Amino acid sequence: MTLAYADPSLNIRDEIASLSGMPELPEKIWFHKTAAAVIDANRCVGCGGCIAACPSRSIGVADDGKPTLVKMCTGCSACWDYCPMAGLRVERLSNLLRQQPLERDNDVDEVLGTVRASYSAKAVARAGLAQDGGVVTGILAALLESGEIDGAIMSAREDAFHGRSFIATTVEEIRSGAGSVYHQSHALSVLNQPLAQGVERLAFVGTPCQISVLRALQRYPWRYRATAAHAVVLTIALFCTRSFDPDRLMSSMAGQGIEADSVARIDIRQGQLVAQVADGRELLRRPVKEFSEAALSGCDECPDFSGLNADLAVGNVGSDAGYSTLLVRTEAGEKAIASLKDGLTLRGMEDLAPIVAIAVQDKKRAERNSARGIDPQGGLWVSYSEHLSRYSGTKRMPKAPPSFRSYHFDVSC
Ligand SMILES: Cc1cc2nc3c(=O)[nH]c(=O)nc-3n(C[C@H](O)[C@H](O)[C@H](O)COP(=O)(O)OP(=O)(O)OC[C@H]3O[C@@H](n4cnc5c(N)ncnc54)[C@H](O)[C@@H]3O)c2cc1C
Ligand code: SF4
Ligand code: SF4
Repeated sequence: MTLAYADPSLNIRDEIASLSGMPELPEKIWFHKTAAAVIDANRCVGCGGCIAACPSRSIGVADDGKPTLVKMCTGCSACWDYCPMAGLRVERLSNLLRQQPLERDNDVDEVLGTVRASYSAKAVARAGLAQDGGVVTGILAALLESGEIDGAIMSAREDAFHGRSFIATTVEEIRSGAGSVYHQSHALSVLNQPLAQGVERLAFVGTPCQISVLRALQRYPWRYRATAAHAVVLTIALFCTRSFDPDRLMSSMAGQGIEADSVARIDIRQGQLVAQVADGRELLRRPVKEFSEAALSGCDECPDFSGLNADLAVGNVGSDAGYSTLLVRTEAGEKAIASLKDGLTLRGMEDLAPIVAIAVQDKKRAERNSARGIDPQGGLWVSYSEHLSRYSGTKRMPKAPPSFRSYHFDVSC
C-alpha cells in the first residue's frame, strides 16, 4: 500500500497489511480513524451518531466532552458510516429522501427541500421556558397527551450553556425541556440505550445533522442489532446555522465581562446573541459573529440549515418575536399538526425568502469549508481513503487522537 499522503491514524494493522500487499480489509474502519478524521481534526459536531451506531456500545463521551472508546472497538466501521462529518454524505441522503419536489426553481428546492405547508405559529398554552412560540413543546405535549407518542427524545438546558439529552415521557418533563440550548449534547446517543417498557413510539427533536443521522439509521439499520431509531415516528428539526462549545462560549462571554453563573438563557436571533438573567433582563447583546471562536468549526461544513430530512422544521427566522416558523415537510408532519386541533395558533406564511436566504448562505459556507465538497449527486458513502486524500494538507486534515481516546483499541487489538 503506497500512500501519497501521510495518514496520522496508521497503525500496526495497516503496516502488516501493507507488507502483505493487501488492504487492511476493504475499507474497514476502526474508531481511531473516525477520531483522527473528525474528532481530533476538530470537525466533530457532537451529534452522538457514532455512539448511537456502535453495535458493541464501545463509544462514550470523555472528560473533554468528545466521543471516546470506552471498551474494545470491533472495527465494524459503523462510527464512520453514520457520521455526518465522515462517511455519511448528508446532502446525498437529503436528495434520496426528498418526497415531493416543489414547483420552485431547482436551487431553491435544493436548499429548502419539501414544504407542504408553512406557518408562523404559537402554542396556545406556551411553556414559560420556550424559546420562541413554544411550538415544539406544544406539539410534543399534545401528541403525548393524545397517546400518539409514548415519549420524546429532547435536549434540555442543564444551565444556560450546557444541554442534556433524555427521553421525556410525561407532559411535565416535556415542558421542563422547553427552550434552546446551543450545545450539542450527543442527543442521538440516547438511541443506543434500551427503551423502557411501554415506550414504543417516540418523537425526536434535534438539529438538522442529528435528524440526518437518525434517518440514515432508520433507512440502513445495522444488521445484527437495531437501535431505537426504529421507534421514532416523528422528527422535528430546529433551524440551525451553528452550535457552540460551552467552555469556549463561557470564556468568550467572560471576555465581555459576563459571568457564566449570571446567565440564565441565551438567544440567537437576527444575527445577535442575547444573554439574559432569569427575569428576562438583558446582560449582553452582541453580533453573534463576535463569538465565532466559540462555534463548532465542523458546523462550517454543514449544508443543511432548515432540517431537510425532518417531518417538521421549526425556527424563528421569518416570524415575529414570540412566534415560531413551522415548516411541514411530510405526511407524518401533516398528521401531527392536524391532530393538534386547537393547541396552536397558526398563521399561514407565504414568504419563505428569509429562510431561503440563510439556507443559501449556509450552503455556500459549507461549499467553501468542506474539502470533500457538497455534492447532492455524489456517492452516499465517503470512504476513509477518499476523505484522507481530500483533507490531507488542509487545516482540517486528520490528526492522531490522544492515547486516552483510542486506549481500548491499542490494548485490545
Ligand atoms: C443550536 C441551535 C441553533 C439554532 N439556530 C437557529 C437559527 O439560526 N435560526 C432560527 O430561526 N432558529 C434557530 N434555532 C431554533 C430556535 O432557537 C428554536 O429552537 C425554535 O425556534 C423553536 O422554538 P420553540 O419556542 O417553538 O421551541 P420550544 O417549545 O422552546 O422547544 C424547543 C425544543 O428543542 C429542544 N432543544 C433545545 N436545544 C436543543 C439542542 N441543542 N439539540 C436538540 N434539541 C434541542 C428542546 O428539548 C425542546 O424540545 C436554533 C436552535 C438550536 C438548538
Ligand atoms: S460528528 Fe457526530 S457521529 Fe461524527 S464523531 Fe462527532 S458525534 Fe460522532
Ligand atoms: S450547523 Fe449543522 S452541523 Fe452544526 S449543529 Fe447545526 S445542524 Fe449540526
